[in-house]
Amino acid sequence: MKFELPKLPYSYDALEPHIDAKTMEIHHTKHHQAYVNGLNAALDNPLLQATGTLEEILADISAVPENIRGAVNFHGGGHDNHSIFWNNMSPAGGGKPGGAIGDAIDKAFGGFDQFKERFTKGSMGIQGSGWGWLVLSPKTGMIDFVTMPNQTSPRTAGLVPLLGLDMWEHAFYILRQNRKNEYVDAWWNVVNWDDVESRLRSV
Ligand code: MN
Repeated sequence: MKFELPKLPYSYDALEPHIDAKTMEIHHTKHHQAYVNGLNAALDNPLLQATGTLEEILADISAVPENIRGAVNFHGGGHDNHSIFWNNMSPAGGGKPGGAIGDAIDKAFGGFDQFKERFTKGSMGIQGSGWGWLVLSPKTGMIDFVTMPNQTSPRTAGLVPLLGLDMWEHAFYILRQNRKNEYVDAWWNVVNWDDVESRLRSV
């Protein structure tokens, strides 16, 4: 099993002016690539059996041998999180979702504005590096907002990631420096609700 860096579904400058091309290029070719490399290195062991897709491995992280579990959690989570993140954004994104995701947001948060405030405040409140996530709990059928530390995937908590916001400094520092709030505000303009909708429907 060898993981590879996925291609972006758009060019590095496609999300300008909201997310700058330099940030996108370094984030994709350096940071995401490093998670792919770290995951492949952790799994490069002839004693390991191939155990399914990355999603399945993360969802059953306690089954990963203890000596590589931390590395798989970090690099595997990093690979999966970023693969979702790129597709969660689009130059044609932004606005307010309709469809099943719009209905689910109204039901869970009382409306889109309340959801947006909860997601923004929760993501801004992360101490250190981590991600803000809109997730689905397959057990309850409800969506919710959670934060996850570092690169730990929501899948490790039995949740299905629908929409993720990378709150690591590497996601915004070139353009925004310490102005994290500007990054979050700008990101809402590129959220690809069609992708979020299809993730919700595929569970
Ligand atoms: Mn990142």
